[in-house]
Amino acid sequence: MQTRSKLPHVGTTIFTVMSALANEHNAINLSQGFPNYPSSQKLNDLVNNAMNNGFNQYAPMAGLLNLRVAISNKYDLLYKSTYHPEKEITITAGATQAIYTAISAFVHQNDEVIIFKPAYDCYQPAIEINGGKTIAIQLSAPEYKVVWTEVASKISSKTKMIIINSPHNPSGTIWSKSDMLELQRLTANTNIIILSDEVYEHIVFDNEKHQSVCLFNDLKQRSFITASFGKTFHNTGWKVGYCCAPETLMQEFRKVHQFNVFSVNHPVQKGISDFMLDADTYLGLNRFFEKKRDLFLNLIKKSRFKFTPSQGTYFQVLDYSEITSENDVEFAKRLTKDFKIASIPLSVFNENNKDDKALRFCFAKTDETLIDAADILCKI
Ligand code: PMP
Ligand code: GLN
Repeated sequence: MQTRSKLPHVGTTIFTVMSALANEHNAINLSQGFPNYPSSQKLNDLVNNAMNNGFNQYAPMAGLLNLRVAISNKYDLLYKSTYHPEKEITITAGATQAIYTAISAFVHQNDEVIIFKPAYDCYQPAIEINGGKTIAIQLSAPEYKVVWTEVASKISSKTKMIIINSPHNPSGTIWSKSDMLELQRLTANTNIIILSDEVYEHIVFDNEKHQSVCLFNDLKQRSFITASFGKTFHNTGWKVGYCCAPETLMQEFRKVHQFNVFSVNHPVQKGISDFMLDADTYLGLNRFFEKKRDLFLNLIKKSRFKFTPSQGTYFQVLDYSEITSENDVEFAKRLTKDFKIASIPLSVFNENNKDDKALRFCFAKTDETLIDAADILCKI
């Protein structure tokens, strides 16, 4: 049978490729971003209780109200920012579905969407399957700083949306308050929608503050925040997340949401809503992951890899330019096969696969795994 692909240049994601290679070669898997320790027993029990207490049929289309209230309370507590639980918050099947749905709801044929590269890999296909055009702005390693004059030059009457992501996957950098103010200034008095992917909002290091889009009043009026419980509660396989946006934007979002997923895993929503009654369940994450970052970096400081410490997320980028001039995809594959350690090459997220000789390692792992991984890295 012959078909015409809607995504002719898209193959299998690097996360699937590298995790499969890690399994095949029995390598330590620091590639795909997921923890290798269990999620909280209390949370697991709350989800089990929900299943045993009848939360097994369709959840409300926009999500369990108690969970939306818990999320609303979190925005009050952390950012003094109000999102109405009934009208401005929707529970989604992970952040991926929130991102896809927001793009589908607003991007028309030939609309332009600005993204910053390296970019998480689900943005561009979602733009293009909806007929939009990706306008990529390549950031330079190792700092990945935005040059705002360049952004200004890319904004036009065709710009429908700008997608931002801080803390940033894959680079582990964060945007400053002045970055957010620049974005606010450049998009003032426009109808440009900001899609702010904040899945790592609770993983920011060195006492820095997460600059959520909701802290900037004018930006907030035009923005979606997308978030992932999988990242926050160490259970990426549950695939539950959410998004927040002003009511008029959320109404359009829900028109698509009700037909691409309708509603999301009910017992997990119930369990998380009970779990979130205690804010310490997510407020301790910064410290938890900062310790893991520090452990990992201390152990590899004598290796031949160079690095700038990650500022947020649970990823650390390592520069291997002193080790080899090999292409990063080839090197990542060779490390998996020959040295039994898997990582993610950054070039796959760059414009024209720009190769900065950089690999991303996930440190959401037990200390034992990080010690074993560092042992290998020091021998390379
Ligand atoms: N955005 C970024 C930047 C991510 O790293 C991820 C992976 N967690 C997602 C979105 C998707 O999140 P989820 O697994 O909840 O779909
Ligand atoms: N967000 C995870 C990462 O960056 C991967 C999610 C996925 O495999 N799609 O590694």
